[in-house]
Amino acid sequence: MAEKLVVLDPGHGGKDPGASGPTKKREKDFVLTMALKVEEILKNVPNVTVSLTRRTDVYIGLSDRAKIANRMKADFFVSFHANSLFSTSHGSETFYKKDNSKSAAQVLNKAMVDASKLHDRGVKYGNFAVIRETTMPSVLLEVGFISNPTEERLLFDPEFQDRVAQGISKGICDYMGVKFVVDKPVKPAPVTYPVMEVTVHGEPAQKFEGINVNNVTWLPSRPIGEYMGGRIGYKKGQVTINGTPVETMNIAGTGYVKARTLTDQLGAKLFWGKDNPTIVDIYPKEAV
Ligand code: ZN
Repeated sequence: MAEKLVVLDPGHGGKDPGASGPTKKREKDFVLTMALKVEEILKNVPNVTVSLTRRTDVYIGLSDRAKIANRMKADFFVSFHANSLFSTSHGSETFYKKDNSKSAAQVLNKAMVDASKLHDRGVKYGNFAVIRETTMPSVLLEVGFISNPTEERLLFDPEFQDRVAQGISKGICDYMGVKFVVDKPVKPAPVTYPVMEVTVHGEPAQKFEGINVNNVTWLPSRPIGEYMGGRIGYKKGQVTINGTPVETMNIAGTGYVKARTLTDQLGAKLFWGKDNPTIVDIYPKEAV
């Protein structure tokens, strides 16, 4: 089988940090880590050669990145980025510019989303210099939104990075028609749900974490229920609140109940943040 050459392009670098997240983590660092991880994985795949446009924190102009790949006569060019817009924007997406790149974008986007488990924003046309000026099929990956606190945390989580790097590596091989072999498999994705910040305004106010499952807020029944003075039990796989069994979701040994159910059962008031629906405030019934 003929040897295939892929050029990986970690965006930004040096004086250009790219976007930065709520905790000031920088896009240029994330994309370099990802490209180096993909390189590490592809090194073990026969019939693939990998080259990077940068492998340190240096600034390289956009046209120069394309020239590197063109001069090397690469078979495929993959640029790595992280997206930035609102704190609520989320998901992975892939851009292509040239007609010869659309199918590559479809293959890479699916491979990336399958691994990232983030919202699939799909394949899009984008007139970006690196994917315009390269002559071979080329795509630009936006792995996730660094402007979103949850996704910023994921983008810098080594397990997430390993999983997505493996997915992207497989996508690159699939697109180039090379059999993907993996040296050491990474752990499958844990099921994760967006976190809800819950404050119970008791004496004193106390913070808890809930989760968002298909736009319904679920709360860990025991810590929050008991903090509000409820009697939380467990019977035949269901949580009971003051003796009444309620709809229950068991996650990693914790019984979650719907926020609305818990507060109704305990006579508390429940509010979601107007501007930020991940903020939940609960006002327990006043003690008499
Ligand atoms: Zn970028």
